[in-house]
Amino acid sequence: MKIFHVSAECYPAAKVGGLADVVGSLPKYLNRLGHHTAVVLPHYAMPFFEENAFEKTYEGILQLGGFEFSFEVLKEQTNQLGFELYTIAITELFDRPKIYAYEDDTERFLSFQIAFLNWITATKQKPDIIHCHDHHTALIPFMAQNCLAYNSLKNTSTILTIHSAQYQGAFGAEKITYIPEFDETKSGLLEWNGMINPLASAVKCAWKITTVSPSYLDEIIGYASGLENLLRWEREKSVGILNGIDTEVWNPASDPMIHYNYNTSSFELGKNKNKEFLCEQFNLNSENPLFVFIGRFVPEKGADLLTEACSTALSQNAGEINILIIGSGDTDVERSIQGLKNFYFGNYNFHIGYNEKLSHLAYAAADFLLMPSRVEPCGLNQMYALKYGTIPIVRRIGGLKDTVLDMGDGGFGICH
Ligand code: ADP
Repeated sequence: MKIFHVSAECYPAAKVGGLADVVGSLPKYLNRLGHHTAVVLPHYAMPFFEENAFEKTYEGILQLGGFEFSFEVLKEQTNQLGFELYTIAITELFDRPKIYAYEDDTERFLSFQIAFLNWITATKQKPDIIHCHDHHTALIPFMAQNCLAYNSLKNTSTILTIHSAQYQGAFGAEKITYIPEFDETKSGLLEWNGMINPLASAVKCAWKITTVSPSYLDEIIGYASGLENLLRWEREKSVGILNGIDTEVWNPASDPMIHYNYNTSSFELGKNKNKEFLCEQFNLNSENPLFVFIGRFVPEKGADLLTEACSTALSQNAGEINILIIGSGDTDVERSIQGLKNFYFGNYNFHIGYNEKLSHLAYAAADFLLMPSRVEPCGLNQMYALKYGTIPIVRRIGGLKDTVLDMGDGGFGICH
C-alpha cells in the first residue's frame, strides 16, 4: 500500500516529544513489511534541515482565505531514515526555529495541510491511506472528502492517530474562509462547541481513529476535554494500538549517545559506568541510587509535583539518594526545580532544556525513572527505561497502565 504520514513532528528532523518518535519509526517498519510509506513534515529552520540535503520536487501556490503563499515540496536526500521524507517549505510561516507556540499556528498548520493536498492532487498521486497525527493535520480528512479541489481524493482512506486529545487546535468560526471551497451543508463536520475544531472534525470524518494505547481510548471516552461524547459516538471505528519503541535507536547495546554500551550480560558494569559518567557531570555521588525525571514541565506530566516530592525524599534520605530532573516548560516549575539545588547540593541537580543525547545517557545511567503523569496517552519514557534496565515508577494511568507491570504482579514500578 502507498501510505502518507502527515505530521508536525518526526524524529530525527523535528522533535518535541513522543509524536516525533512514533512518526520517525512506524513508517520505517511499515516499509519493511512491504508498504511504500512516506512522511510529510513542514520545513522548519532547525538544525536537521540545515545539515541535510533536500531536493525540490514541486512548487505551487496555496490560498488561505484572502492570503496567498507560495510553497515548495522538498525531498530529503540522505535516504538513511528508512522512509522517504518530504518537507513542505512555506517561508513566511515555517522558516522559524520552533515547531509550535506561535500566535499564527492555526494559519501555519492549515496552510501546511492545504499545501500537502494541493501537491498530491496536482501530481495525481493516489495514496491508499493518508495517516494524520494529532490536530495539526486533522483537517485533512474533511478537506479530502469535501473540498471541490480535492475531488480526486474523495474516497481515499484517512486515519487519525490521537497522541493527545487535550490539544484540539480549535479556532473561531470566522476563519472558515480559510478552508478551500466546499459544500456548505457539510460545515457541521468542522464544528464542535461553536468553534472549528480540527481534532473533532477528524474524529467525525476519518475512516479510522487510533489512540496510542488501549487504556487511553477507554479514558478519553470518559473524559477528553469536551470530545468525550463525540468519541463515544465514534467508538465503532476507533481502536487503541499501543506504541512500540524503535530498538534500532533505543538499544543500550548499540546506542551511540551513551557513554558505555551494555547488554543483559554486561548490565551491572554498563549501568555503573554510565552512572559514574553522568554523576560526574552533575556533581552527584554515583554510589547512591539515582532517580531521574525526563519530560515536559506541564500539568499532564505531573511536573508540578516534583519539587515537593523531591524535597521530601531528599530530606528523609539525607545524603543517600540522588535526583536529576531534565526538562523544560512551565516557568514556575522551572524556577522551583532550580531552587531546590540550593538545599540539596551534591544530591540533586537539573538540566533545564531539551537535550536528546543527555536523555539517552540518563536512561542508561539511572536506577529509577519518575513518571508521576496525570495524563499519559502512551508514554515512551517508561518503555525506554525498561529497555535500559531502569525501573519506572509511574502512576496507574493511560499507557503506563498498559506497559508497566505492578510490583505485586511480578513487574516493576506502579504506584497506586
Ligand atoms: P510526550 O510526547 O507526551 O512528551 P512521551 O513519553 O510520549 O511524552 O515522549 C517523550 C519523548 O520526549 C521521549 O523520547 C523523551 O525522552 C523525550 N524528551 C522529553 N523531554 C526531553 C528533554 N528535556 N530532553 C530530551 N528528551 C526529552
